[in-house]
Amino acid sequence: MRDRGPRAIERLDDPRLAPYVPDAPAASAVRGAGRIARLNANESPWGPFPGVAEAVAEVVAGANRYPDRGLALVEALADRHAVPTDAIVVGNGGDALIGMICAAYLSPGDEVVMAAPSFTSYATDSIRAGGVPVEVPVRADGCLDLPAMADAITEQTRVVFVCNPNNPTGGMLPDVDVRAFVERIPENILVVLDEAYIEYVDARADRVEPFSLARPHVCTLRTFSKIFGLAGLRAGYLVGPPAIIGPVSQLRNWYDVSDAAHVAATISLGQPDEVARRRRETALRRDELAGILRAHGLEMLPSAASFVAVPHPDPTGLATQLLGHGVLTRVVPSHLRIGVGNADDLAQLDAALAA
Ligand code: PMP
Repeated sequence: MRDRGPRAIERLDDPRLAPYVPDAPAASAVRGAGRIARLNANESPWGPFPGVAEAVAEVVAGANRYPDRGLALVEALADRHAVPTDAIVVGNGGDALIGMICAAYLSPGDEVVMAAPSFTSYATDSIRAGGVPVEVPVRADGCLDLPAMADAITEQTRVVFVCNPNNPTGGMLPDVDVRAFVERIPENILVVLDEAYIEYVDARADRVEPFSLARPHVCTLRTFSKIFGLAGLRAGYLVGPPAIIGPVSQLRNWYDVSDAAHVAATISLGQPDEVARRRRETALRRDELAGILRAHGLEMLPSAASFVAVPHPDPTGLATQLLGHGVLTRVVPSHLRIGVGNADDLAQLDAALAA
């Protein structure tokens, strides 16, 4: 601790706000020049969609200009979901939007209900905003326990995060369960449906669950980082009633999303066939991954997403061993999360598990 100079706010001492350490440099240190299978961060194993790299190169030539707030992207999104443009806010990745939701809707001491394990930003961004995470264990199958989450709501609850499919477990609840849950939640509490991985789910890829748009207290979070393969450019969005979206929009920095990201996202949105192709390919590889795991005596939870959770007594030990063979995975409580990857990634995983 410093004894001179400005002192940052006390809640930054919370161990849950420890600085993020990227995995890849450590992997390179272990592996040298060897191939690394990046199955740790739920990234797409494929590049951006056709045409994106060329369009981004053109935009970069004009990088002396500030971005335009993505008006064309917002219009394309409004079109996609059949909502007015003020029902959409674009952000610097879904992650930034989670932070803005917390900043807009939480006062110190307010409670935020979320699953455990689930996407870690719900807890960290709640704490940053002075809120208190209330974590409700997922079911044994890795799906959210929505009745238990509804029971966890108190007078202090202001926001609920519903991650479906859930990261890191992969479990996906049917719309009817989510709808029943939303009906139980008082309208003064914001329900955020995080659908970062929904494009991997056949029946739901292209639409925001219509009931959510009709409710005054529900919004849906999407990202271009997953099936659209744009994690490095940072673009996500929220869709919901303008009265919910407005306060989040107010918290935007003027130029928070680059035009490279806007253009890449807009071009990607125009390619539903590519989305479908990647969805099918991911499902095939996920089955292949299941077979590899089974062959090595490992189980996985049922997954609707681009990763699977492997229950394990010592996930850290297993992750360290895999890292020795250049396979990066993510340790989560009592599980190892492994991305589906591509054919080369899976071959490398298979060989690593065999060794
Ligand atoms: N929600 C969930 C469930 C996620 O897993 C992620 C990324 N891992 C995000 C939101 C945020 O993604 P991004 O900031 O890349 O849009």
